[in-house]
Amino acid sequence: MTALLTTQGLQAFYGDAQALFGVDFTLEQGELVAVIGANGAGKSTLLKCLTGLVRAPREAIHFKGEAVGGLPPGEIVKRGLAMVPEGRRLFPSLSVEENLLIGGLSQRKGPWDLKRLYKLFPILAEKRHNPGTSLSGGQQQMVALGRSLMSNPEVLLCDELSLGLAPIVIREIYAAMPDITREGMTVVIVEQDVTMAQRVSRRIYCLQEGRVSLQGRSDQLTRDQISQAYFGL
Ligand code: ATP
Repeated sequence: MTALLTTQGLQAFYGDAQALFGVDFTLEQGELVAVIGANGAGKSTLLKCLTGLVRAPREAIHFKGEAVGGLPPGEIVKRGLAMVPEGRRLFPSLSVEENLLIGGLSQRKGPWDLKRLYKLFPILAEKRHNPGTSLSGGQQQMVALGRSLMSNPEVLLCDELSLGLAPIVIREIYAAMPDITREGMTVVIVEQDVTMAQRVSRRIYCLQEGRVSLQGRSDQLTRDQISQAYFGL
């Protein structure tokens, strides 16, 4: 099976400071992969390279067989990658529904529209006329996720969905993932909550100081292996 997305020997820099040191990463169509690692390990940088927000050499990233490293973010979005940014970033003057509709502007065809989204997160239908920013943190995260789904990407990249949310809300958001991957969408989650990451993903990559310190099937990795790879114990 050919991979949908790969990075090979990916290096990334902020000025002179190197953040990724040769990361090999593979994503198969329809799977959910979790990227874990301590603060500063390079998780967000990896996602930013994939979406063109941090420059990468052209040949270091392939998406659907094409070299896409370093392409402008707009080009990459057009090809079918979307990111749910850390921190939600809703438009404060727009309602929940308007925030969601912004995601649909790309007019890519696919299963996700308002009706489908309201079925996934019924609370958003109830609050659709409220300002997006009047919602709770968890509900705002649902809007941010929904907005990205509305663009019907092939690959959805989620940066720390659980940040600052209560455990019950985190579970509610991750409960939506099987519905999202069922129709073939491919998902990458960057997640600090390792237990949740292991529970919802098929495979895990652990980064440590800009390198992959562990990767494997989520149901086969042990807590010890993960702690060692995470903290470098
Ligand atoms: P966190 O969980 O804290 O978000 P992370 O694993 O996502 O961490 P990155 O944000 O990718 O880690 O950071 C990787 C490295 O790159 C760190 O050493 C960080 O200090 C550095 N870095 C990240 N963003 C910048 C930036 N804009 N300018 C300079 N260095 C940066």
